[in-house]
Amino acid sequence: LENQVIQSQKMDAIGTLAGGIAHDFNNILSAIMGYTQLSLIDTPDNSQVSHQLERVLQASHRAKELVDQILTFSRQEEQKKEPVQIRLIVGEVLKLLRASIPSTIEFNLEIRKDTGVILADPIQIHQVLMNLCANAAHAMTEKGGALSINLANLDIDNACAKQFSDLSPGPYVLLTVADTGHGMDEATVEKIFNPYFTTKEPGEGTGLGLSVVHGIIRDMGGFIKVYSEKGQGTSFQLYIPRVEIDSSQVMFSEHTHPSGTE
Ligand code: ADP
Repeated sequence: LENQVIQSQKMDAIGTLAGGIAHDFNNILSAIMGYTQLSLIDTPDNSQVSHQLERVLQASHRAKELVDQILTFSRQEEQKKEPVQIRLIVGEVLKLLRASIPSTIEFNLEIRKDTGVILADPIQIHQVLMNLCANAAHAMTEKGGALSINLANLDIDNACAKQFSDLSPGPYVLLTVADTGHGMDEATVEKIFNPYFTTKEPGEGTGLGLSVVHGIIRDMGGFIKVYSEKGQGTSFQLYIPRVEIDSSQVMFSEHTHPSGTE
């Protein structure tokens, strides 16, 4: 437990530091992107200079994505938590995601209709899913495989809570993202939530994805369990506290959600 506390404080400190830098960096990036766009307007189309300026813009966009991840991680950005039907958000996000998943990956989706309401910022749920699915797809680049997403209610009673020391009893929503990719050994699993830990090639990963996921879920009072086996695959289980609430007060409730207007 002590280790966990130290780890969590370390992450908070890094988060605050990184957040400050990211904020300043964002302003500088805005200037770079703004002036590049202006220069592009003044440059003849298809000239070498205009191609080079396009490159500057592309690189800046990537830098901006990275900075956005850092800002979320440090949680300096304003969050808007509201009661949401998580299954509707998951459904929406996965519709978007499906298109970008290569055909070598089989896609299984199981969302229980009675899945409850959670207190969350829908954008953050989006981010959580994108990060987890991107990692899963990456782990299956070579051999293909199956990506399975599962969403259901789960009530944790006292007996069950005792088995997992870091878990309090109560009503939860359980979101599972599982892949049959290359998996991880134990030593790797221990490090995956550390900011900037990555095994990907430079330029492929920031090492911030799972720190962001961890921060978001912890912030909702939830927790994450990871099961992984080298050569077999990985499963992320996200336990998110459920709120008992009158569903007419819920954003993204069935009749107000634009899912039917595709
Ligand atoms: P990044 O994806 O930028 O490397 P993350 O924090 O999202 O950063 O992930 C950290 C590391 O955790 C990855 O580099 C990878 O080694 C490992 N990892 C995460 N998800 C999976 C997965 N589904 N299968 C295998 N390894 C994973």
